[in-house]
Amino acid sequence: MTIRALPPDLAAQIAAGEVIERPVSVAKELVENALDAGATTVQVEVREGGVRLLQVADDGCGIPAAEAVLAFGRHTTSKLSAAEDLYHIRTLGFRGEALCSIAAVARVTMTTRPRDEEAGTLLRLEGGQVVEQSLTARPAGTTVTVENLFYNLPARRKFLKSENTEAGHILALLAAYALAYPAVRFALLLNGREVLRTSGTGRTEEALAEVLGLDTARAMTPLPEVTGRTAARVSGYVGAPSLHRGNRDGLFFFVNGRWVQDRSLSFAVEEAYRSLLPNGRHPVALIDLRVDPADVDVNIHPTKREVRFRQGQDLFGLVQKAVRRTLVEDAPLPQMEPVRGQVVPVPEGRQMAMHLGREATTPEATRAALELFRPAPNAAPAEVPPPRAPGANRLPPLRLVGQVAQTYILAEGPDGLYLIDQHAAHERIMYEHLQALRQSLTIPRQALLDPRPVELTRYQAAKLEERRETIERLGFEIAPFGGATYLVRAVPVGFPEREITNFLAELLQPMPGKEVERAWEERALETVACHAAVRAGQTLSETEMRDLVRQLEATTLPYTCPHGRPTTIRLTLTQLEKEFKRR
Ligand code: ADP
Ligand code: MG
Repeated sequence: MTIRALPPDLAAQIAAGEVIERPVSVAKELVENALDAGATTVQVEVREGGVRLLQVADDGCGIPAAEAVLAFGRHTTSKLSAAEDLYHIRTLGFRGEALCSIAAVARVTMTTRPRDEEAGTLLRLEGGQVVEQSLTARPAGTTVTVENLFYNLPARRKFLKSENTEAGHILALLAAYALAYPAVRFALLLNGREVLRTSGTGRTEEALAEVLGLDTARAMTPLPEVTGRTAARVSGYVGAPSLHRGNRDGLFFFVNGRWVQDRSLSFAVEEAYRSLLPNGRHPVALIDLRVDPADVDVNIHPTKREVRFRQGQDLFGLVQKAVRRTLVEDAPLPQMEPVRGQVVPVPEGRQMAMHLGREATTPEATRAALELFRPAPNAAPAEVPPPRAPGANRLPPLRLVGQVAQTYILAEGPDGLYLIDQHAAHERIMYEHLQALRQSLTIPRQALLDPRPVELTRYQAAKLEERRETIERLGFEIAPFGGATYLVRAVPVGFPEREITNFLAELLQPMPGKEVERAWEERALETVACHAAVRAGQTLSETEMRDLVRQLEATTLPYTCPHGRPTTIRLTLTQLEKEFKRR
């Protein structure tokens, strides 16, 4: 084979592929450039998940006319000049390849003006080449408009997830940077609708409220600032254990103002919450690390999403201690060892409503949860439960034995011992009841004595408006109450009030995958079932357990919860005999 140099435009596309994976990569590079330019306002506009249009406008330092074209060159940067600079990086960018990479895979327009220059510059690039350069009038700052992303890379375009998934990633990025830079005013427009806006007051508490919603912000406590041996400083905010979420999207890590993803840091924080959160749930926390730039290598990943620490272990220990101390001192909570069960893989996009684990609640709450959707005595018997057909995936009649670890129900069947996960089982029951009710008529709702105010984020409010009909069909009544406040007036009969905030946060987050109405409603139904179901860690009376087992017997798919986790484990008599060496 003959070795030859690749044509320059192909080489550029290959290099660009590393930096620009998907629309959020463009957003990240442009927002970081704006922050490096000292912007106090960053406005982002996105159309069609960022593929059609992604625009970032700032009021930063601008680019001198003489350097505008140079900014789009490969490895051209104003942030680094000598090799040793690489170990003292204080800017977010330094590789000098973002603008160049973006221009290689999209149509780009930039207008820019430094404060001390009379006129601004307009540049238009196609396929990485400048096709127009002219003078323009504009306020000081820079606007980069990226259109038709990957128009010249159809293969990559095919790999993109749905518009909604891409938009969700961009929202998460803006949310993170808005929290890391509370003094900067951020705004995000998705398809013409404003879904995020911060006021840039410089107060993190305010940014937390604007980004995560007031209810969440109120449940967050500042960490005491701690300093480690390695000249590292940890500060931030941690959510009360009641704020648990179905995924790790509520965890934000910043290292010297850079938003990073780091498994060890996530682990350190989650360990600090150990036994405080329901099993399988994740906390909300913002961790801000300041370390000597010489102690962190930010040049290990083309998108700079990951970093490497010189004294990682010390740092993780420091984070963990700071979080734990805040949680345990400020809120003494019951200490329970988490139960680690086996979790079956869940199809993508369905993880968010994963089961809630242990959580102590009052017997009244338990009773209310178990009352939920039990068919009224005068209801037509054919409606719920569905007719039973004997078969391999039906539960046989079971005799109740008792409860184990306030989490599992022990029962005896004709062929052995049954261990039933009370939460998973109840989730399955609720889910099928809700489904049946929805098909027949409507889900019965119950008005709250005191309508409950909830504070939504802009994104959540937009989503609520968009999905109002579906949400009401599920038995909720939620009315606008001025600003970001909404009033929950009614919930499905028996839905526990304490779950309203967590439920809405989960329901109204960007869901991965295509948001076709049908799929959305299915997931919403699962989320209702999950939040309404009795928790692990709740003591159940004998009657309650017997009811639960009866209702589970009546379901169509008694062996798995709606997310695919098992509800029941069976130990056959043969297995028992083997274990006891009777055979
Ligand atoms: P890097 O950020 O790694 O330096 P980029 O390709 O992102 O590389 O940008 C190249 C250069 O263009 C930057 O170093 C900076 O001087 C200039 N630049 C890019 N975006 C902006 C902006 N929004 N405001 C001011 N200058 C910018
Ligand atoms: Mg850059």
